[in-house]
Amino acid sequence: MANSPTLNPFEISQRQLDMAAKKLGLDPQVHAMLREPMRILQVHFPVHMDNGTVKTFTGFRVQYNDARGPTKGGIRFHPDETIDTVKALAAWMTWKCAVVDIPYGGGKGGVICNPKELSATELERISRGFIRAIGRFIGPERDIPAPDVYTTPQIMAWMMDEYSTIVGVNTPGVITGKPLALGGSLGRGDATARGTVHCIVEAAKELKINLKGATVAVQGYGNAGYYAAKLMKELAGSKIVAVTDSRAGVYDPNGIDPDAANEHKQKTGSVSGYKGLKAITNEEILELDVDILIPAAIENVITDKNAAKVKAKIIAEAANGPTTPEADAILYKNGKYVIPDFLCNSGGVTVSYFEWVQNIGGYYWTIDEVYSRLEEKMVRAFHDVHEMAKKHNVDNRIGAYMVSIARVAEAMKLRGWV
Ligand code: GLU
Repeated sequence: MANSPTLNPFEISQRQLDMAAKKLGLDPQVHAMLREPMRILQVHFPVHMDNGTVKTFTGFRVQYNDARGPTKGGIRFHPDETIDTVKALAAWMTWKCAVVDIPYGGGKGGVICNPKELSATELERISRGFIRAIGRFIGPERDIPAPDVYTTPQIMAWMMDEYSTIVGVNTPGVITGKPLALGGSLGRGDATARGTVHCIVEAAKELKINLKGATVAVQGYGNAGYYAAKLMKELAGSKIVAVTDSRAGVYDPNGIDPDAANEHKQKTGSVSGYKGLKAITNEEILELDVDILIPAAIENVITDKNAAKVKAKIIAEAANGPTTPEADAILYKNGKYVIPDFLCNSGGVTVSYFEWVQNIGGYYWTIDEVYSRLEEKMVRAFHDVHEMAKKHNVDNRIGAYMVSIARVAEAMKLRGWV
């Protein structure tokens, strides 16, 4: 397999950085520092299981770079979690917070576990146990976690409560994505997808694509995928023709109702089989003849093997890391317009930032304030990237990296680190 391109997400993140650093003519000392995380904590902690046994769980928290502010990023609960995935995701959070210009560095965390096999009480004890293990490492001015794959507002609530108990002060600003009753922000639920839709709207203007009636395929039907389908229909008037989740999905050229498909998923565990529609696999959905493809699931789904078969005009990456560098080169050559992950899905962390601001100020905003501030941030970030890519004749991912790296590098220089 000597010639097979790497699928290690951290190596991919380093390669992307290297390409952008070269284009920018980045100071090699800054570049060297940006290739590695500043801090990594690995923990092993005990959890009392329902059957009376004690199980040791492994978790990670990576603080990639904090030049622009406290590190920020989600916590994933996943059976296949690895330190390299968490490192890559922490790097991408650094670029994400910089591209949308919020005053944070990037971080990420993960616990190796399978929430589908855990009871609610076990999930609570894992959440609290992880916070006891990483408690000294995080804080509202230090490192602020949030939800990610398989973590929920309820889990954020337990984590916030555990942290507040440890420090002896109610501290809502230590974590975002909380339920509203505990200092969550209005609009956080669909924020990632809403930001994705703002990017698609701007891209469609640039490409002169009419979104009304445009066809959309969505891979992944979690928080980002479901809301992306719903908002593309409701805000842009587009037609959702295919959706899948981790099992498989359905296709209907006449259009799928995103809410009804979601109800089917809540009832049966999957969108597959919804209304007896034609079945479609997670591979097939990527190659559908649609206007807009939204990968909203996991890493490395568009690779050198299938990139040439992607027919969509716009690929809006609601997921983190769905496209490999080899696939990027093919898509760019084929004239596809990729809205890169850390721009396309930055709406989530942007509203997390608003949540933190509200927690610290103790004053809560209306939904319209959240929506309009989010739109302003997303539209500006989109055009910063679009213009950078055009000016330097590079694909949008490298353009986005160039915008972000320049911002992080400026902060590092001003601090006197390099
Ligand atoms: N986990 C989300 C992301 O990848 C949100 C992070 C946050 O809100 O801090 O962007």
